[in-house]
Amino acid sequence: MSVGVAILGSTGSIGRSTLQVLSRQRDRFRVVALTGHSNKDLLAQQAAEWKPAFVGLVNGGTASCLVEAATHPDVRIVVNGIVGAAGLEATLAALRAGKRVALANKETLVMAGELVAQAARDGGGEIVPVDSEHSAVLQCVAGRRPTELARLILTASGGPFRTWGAERVSRATVAEALKHPTWTMGKKITVDSATLVNKALEVIEAHFLFDVEYDQVDVVIHPQSVIHGFAEFVDGSVLAQVGFPTMELPILYALTYPDRVPDQGVRRFDPVAAGTLTFEALQPERFPAYVVGREAARQGGTAPARFNAANEVAVQLFLDEKITFGRIAEIIEHVVGRGTGDAGRGKSLEAVLAADAEARRLAEEVACS
Ligand code: NDP
Ligand code: MG
Repeated sequence: MSVGVAILGSTGSIGRSTLQVLSRQRDRFRVVALTGHSNKDLLAQQAAEWKPAFVGLVNGGTASCLVEAATHPDVRIVVNGIVGAAGLEATLAALRAGKRVALANKETLVMAGELVAQAARDGGGEIVPVDSEHSAVLQCVAGRRPTELARLILTASGGPFRTWGAERVSRATVAEALKHPTWTMGKKITVDSATLVNKALEVIEAHFLFDVEYDQVDVVIHPQSVIHGFAEFVDGSVLAQVGFPTMELPILYALTYPDRVPDQGVRRFDPVAAGTLTFEALQPERFPAYVVGREAARQGGTAPARFNAANEVAVQLFLDEKITFGRIAEIIEHVVGRGTGDAGRGKSLEAVLAADAEARRLAEEVACS
């Protein structure tokens, strides 16, 4: 019997890659639910091809169709490929209903990591990461005891501005920020990769996924994006996961974990073709938004939710050409700096949503001032 899959955000980059993977695995999986947002035509095309039992178009503020898709009785795995805070309710609902969530939507783990973990415990669901760095780590630590793990190292390409001077970066255009050197992704995460906010989100994501302290999560710049993550063990041994950049592999692994299945879809690795691999220390003064993200992580409570919300607002304003690239980090810093020292308050959904709303309001206000 094939495994039923729901794809939230099937019209996006992760959603489309998931369907690409599933097109090669039709004997193992069937598509039970698809959801889209603004791209009605593509959703209709996907629905015609895959004939899912449920098709949902999110319009305006009504996200109930995401929850309906995520908790559909025929669904065993929910691929959450929604961008931003809009994915939270569906992740919580899926976990409470005992589903596996193949999670690309890292923002919601950052906002509400404790609540997501609690929902999984309550309902018997599980989270398996789709994010390539976290998939890499999972592949390195699978089968090991948590006490054997000493440290994680996440790689970052450094984005399009890795070699630019600070002055030029602060004036970068939207087109320049959207030219990612190694990955093709949705707009928001591409901008997050240019500010390195994405890496701060991923540090927080790793903390919640692998139950490690923040000082056990390091980041290194690796411009070729061939090594996706390292895990260091207590005896000093280090494992890494390697491959040419593609999201199809981590998506497939999240669907089949802990097993591996044959798949001919991804380019086979060739060390000679990969060429020279290089690593550089991340220079914090060049990526101020990353530094703020790590500080928010250290603060805990609702600080990560504030960081995430301020970033979502700032990135949208930048994409709408209402603020410069340099303002993104300034806005986030201002909003996180105005936090109220509420460590421990990240444990209720009301507190998280209130912090999210307040941070959005403040970010808009700062941007207009
Ligand atoms: P895209 O922008 O390409 O896709 C986002 C999807 O979410 C689309 O299907 C979109 O629908 C839908 N959507 C947008 N807003 C809403 C909303 N308010 N309510 C419901 N659905 C909505 O993003 P990506 O696929 O690049 O990223 C998705 C998530 O995966 C992000 O959290 C990102 O950080 C993460 N991720 C992505 C990677 C990648 O390679 N792309 C890699 C690692 C993580 P529509 O298009 O119809 O408007
Ligand atoms: Mg990633």
